[in-house]
Amino acid sequence: MDYYLNSENTYQRLEREYQQYNALVVAFDFDNTVYDYHQKGLEFTQVIELLRQLKQIGCYLIIFTANDDYEFIKEYCTKSKIPYDSINQNPPFYQTQSPKIYYNALLDDRAGLRETYDCLSRLVKKFGK
Ligand SMILES: [Mg+2]
Repeated sequence: MDYYLNSENTYQRLEREYQQYNALVVAFDFDNTVYDYHQKGLEFTQVIELLRQLKQIGCYLIIFTANDDYEFIKEYCTKSKIPYDSINQNPPFYQTQSPKIYYNALLDDRAGLRETYDCLSRLVKKFGK
């Protein structure tokens, strides 16, 4: 099996990185990951709660989104108490010319959300207060 198709290997790498830096860079999508884009009454409470816990254990949170209405995003996140450090911008401690955002993990409804959610929840259980 390819090495990172094994979920345990993915988790162990994140745990090692967290222990090394006492932080992870976690990117998260906005539309349909924390915000009900089509107003269908969908819930995103578990992902939002996980983001709060990740913030508590020192993670750097980047909103990684194709939505360009930053004012709305900021307002929504403030109102919904969703922590974030930047929108589509690398952390100050990881500057690069590449257009790809740097992250250790990505929470995105279009990119294996369940697996990343489980992995980060396990990390928070282990290192959270
Ligand atoms: Mg999305």
